[in-house]
Amino acid sequence: STFTHTFDTPSFKGAVTINTGLFINGEWVDPVEHSTIDVINPATGKVITAIAAGSSKDVDKAVAAAKKAYKTSWGLKCPGSVRGKLLNKIADLIEANADEFTALEALDVGKMFGTARNSDVGSAIGYFRYYGGWADKVHGQTIETNENKVAYTRHEPYGVVGQIIPWNFPLSILCCKVAPALATGNVVVMKPSEITPLTALKFAGLLNEAGIPPGVVNIVNGYGQTVGEAISHHPHIDKISFTGSTITGRKVLKASAETNLKDVTLELGGKSPSIVFDDADLDQAVKWTAHGIYFNMGQVCTAGSRIFVQEGIYDQFLGKFTEETKVRAAAAGDPFAQGTLHGPQVSKTQFDRVMEYIDIGKKEGATVHIGGERHGQEGYFVQPTIFTECKPGMKIVREEIFGPVAVIIKFKTEEEAVEAANDTTYGLACSVFSQNGSRALRVAHQLEAGTAWINCSNSTEIPVAFGGYKQSGIGRELGQSAIDTYTQVKGVHVNI
Ligand code: NAD
Repeated sequence: STFTHTFDTPSFKGAVTINTGLFINGEWVDPVEHSTIDVINPATGKVITAIAAGSSKDVDKAVAAAKKAYKTSWGLKCPGSVRGKLLNKIADLIEANADEFTALEALDVGKMFGTARNSDVGSAIGYFRYYGGWADKVHGQTIETNENKVAYTRHEPYGVVGQIIPWNFPLSILCCKVAPALATGNVVVMKPSEITPLTALKFAGLLNEAGIPPGVVNIVNGYGQTVGEAISHHPHIDKISFTGSTITGRKVLKASAETNLKDVTLELGGKSPSIVFDDADLDQAVKWTAHGIYFNMGQVCTAGSRIFVQEGIYDQFLGKFTEETKVRAAAAGDPFAQGTLHGPQVSKTQFDRVMEYIDIGKKEGATVHIGGERHGQEGYFVQPTIFTECKPGMKIVREEIFGPVAVIIKFKTEEEAVEAANDTTYGLACSVFSQNGSRALRVAHQLEAGTAWINCSNSTEIPVAFGGYKQSGIGRELGQSAIDTYTQVKGVHVNI
């Protein structure tokens, strides 16, 4: 069945129609066992529509379709140059539908329309273009070991890849996984987040038009405990790429260990530090640290949620950072209105979680410097919030809040800052603010994180490898790293 939403907003006017079924083997189908999920608009708390929810039986069907497609119409049956063209065709179609995708994402996730158009939909298009370019450039090496022996390496696809994604960048993360998997010749069974399924359905609706053969990409919506578990336990899925919380990541890894030892890539949570030194450009540091924690309402795995500020600049920084926070708080509201700077958290669950952490912070003895309350009467808005007087052992300093909540900590020396920043089980990203180039590089190199930003924050680039140290993940995505992630290397030895 289909669902049409008519938008009449300052940012977008028009009707968008999507199919709410499961997309398996190039067709829209109903789940084997009837089940649905309500999709909620987080800006109002009201139900938008209901979509079909799959089960392990639907995952079985999707894996069978994918396997057949891999053998008959993808992998080596479809040359890289052709795959590259098809990926570019997907990019063209997303671009032609960019406003519709943006409107659905803003409706479903509560993102500001303008930001979602540039960031989420812009990167979705970018992933398909970038990996479309890679599709005919995946090759190995020739190695001669002596005059009678030559070997060469082949970068072979895994076959059926399972992908499980979260709700904070639904379309963008979907494309960041599907594009490199297809470029390298794999076929996909994708499970979007049950909280934000709409853009994945719109995406599925373009695949036939793009010319992607049936079964190459299958989109199975559903809950983690059903569809997610079925993918991570499936004996015929050869590789899994998961983005989400560290708790669920452990379950996915365990499922692989207990079944067929499928290769696992994990992109997990974070509690990323931003370090602001006395010699930083203050206005730039304020601008970027605010983007670091408040972008996407703090619902970013790389959010700069711990801000360490050197004592000489502390008061000035806090003053300006507070002003920046007030500007955002004053412009909180409708994601579709022009000029909105702050939207809702994605769901009631996330809203409750963030408010609970704010409560915990107060009880732990930290000070709410500004914010700390619900914004408005409807929807799931939390005010941008600053905590000061924070101590290293506090939960709000150690745990991922995944909301617009910054903890600010004063430090004296570079050494002390590095030690405090590294005092975390996570290792996804970090930011360093200093106009002393040597210091900035020295500190960035010492911080235990897969991404280091110098004088900027919270902005990934498609060609640059991305992934976590410590408990923030295993493996890498983006750039050439994703080509390695989705291929396995075979050495072929020839006796001449
Ligand atoms: P989550 O772990 O609750 O869910 C992620 C996905 O896993 C969803 O699709 C969910 O349905 C599924 N799932 C749940 N239980 C499962 C199970 N037992 N087996 C298999 N799949 C299961 O995370 P979330 O709340 O959707 O997203 C927020 C988390 O994601 C945060 O911790 C954030 O840091 C992390 N994240 C990481 C990155 C990164 O690249 N490192 C990017 C975005 C988000």
